[in-house]
Amino acid sequence: MTRTRRRQVGAGLSALVAILLLVTAQHMRQAQVHRETLYVFGTLVEIEIRGEAPETARAATAAAGQLLQELHRDWHAWQPGGTLGALNAAIVQGRALRVDDRLAAVLRRGRDLSCASGGLFDPAIGRLVGLWGFHADMPPTGAPPERAEIAALLAARPRMTDLRLDGQTVRSTNPAVHLDLGGFAKGAALDMVAADLRARGIANAVLNAGGDVNVMGAHGDRPWRVAIRDPFVWGAVAAVSLAPGEVLYTSGNYERYFEHEGERFAHILDPRTGYPVRQIVSVSVLDTDGARADAAATALSVAGPRDWPRVAAAMGVSAVLMITESGALLATPDMAARLAPVGAELPAPLQIVPLPQAQPALACAGPGVGRQAAL
Ligand code: ADP
Ligand code: MG
Repeated sequence: MTRTRRRQVGAGLSALVAILLLVTAQHMRQAQVHRETLYVFGTLVEIEIRGEAPETARAATAAAGQLLQELHRDWHAWQPGGTLGALNAAIVQGRALRVDDRLAAVLRRGRDLSCASGGLFDPAIGRLVGLWGFHADMPPTGAPPERAEIAALLAARPRMTDLRLDGQTVRSTNPAVHLDLGGFAKGAALDMVAADLRARGIANAVLNAGGDVNVMGAHGDRPWRVAIRDPFVWGAVAAVSLAPGEVLYTSGNYERYFEHEGERFAHILDPRTGYPVRQIVSVSVLDTDGARADAAATALSVAGPRDWPRVAAAMGVSAVLMITESGALLATPDMAARLAPVGAELPAPLQIVPLPQAQPALACAGPGVGRQAAL
């Protein structure tokens, strides 16, 4: 090979190497994965960000962590020191309290979702949650509460419709209201984190709070895939590929419960009876709104295996999977179209349950009407 030819080959090679390096750098940027786990809202919250420079992703997760800690403190129904704790104390004393705009907004949302559910989802039943002992981080032990204690709390009829929200000033017409946002706080909080990440220019991320998930963008060149847990055995019932901006929330009575004399008491309470839901094992809702999906998963668990389609339609959610105590898989057409088996096939055949026509919301026109609508 002549000297000139060798020089040409050399120049060609270095150009190729430069291009390869560029492509690799681009690829590494795309594949850049930043993962962090926080313990908030009584669960582990995992945040995964893809395709950002490490310092950008680190700053974004630090801000998300800070926001989640603040919300956990401010929205805690039982710890003094937070805004919600102060509001609950004010409600008992019949006082109005001016709260921060985030809490006012989440209470409005909670009231609307409660109304739409006909009161089956009702964050005003905190006293019942406390009586059953589901307010603590650890599940309760021992015997269930006395029937008379439950009846006394039900007789006081606490409901979200008792709240009066005037801008950021909140009061309750009923001192028996004790706000516990546990049924949808995770969803509302993850929605806020996702909005914050978007505002910081993050395009691709997944927020996972113990199996409740919000996704943004995609996982590289494929969608984010999440699994729905099998409530009976260790593993997944199915996988779902989520489009950008979608969320998947699951409520179940297989995680937080206690057993007494062979009976299982789970942490989702039926506001009509004051007792934990029976029968349903898990309800998953696929939606584009975390707060609504979370509230709906709770409400549909309360609604039970016969009434849930009506409540789903009233709440405006269309993709639902319910797993019953006997292992039946009930899915709406919109959910059925999205479920992929994890192994060879689903653990049981899917029973397709169409939803009724979207109903006029089971609306609350005034104080106290919410629950009757569902009875
Ligand atoms: P998870 O937290 O396991 O996702 P949920 O979203 O269903 O489950 O929330 C359950 C929590 O919601 C309970 O621990 C309690 O604080 C509260 N809660 C229980 N029953 C209701 C109800 N009918 N409406 C609103 N909140 C409820
Ligand atoms: Mg919920």
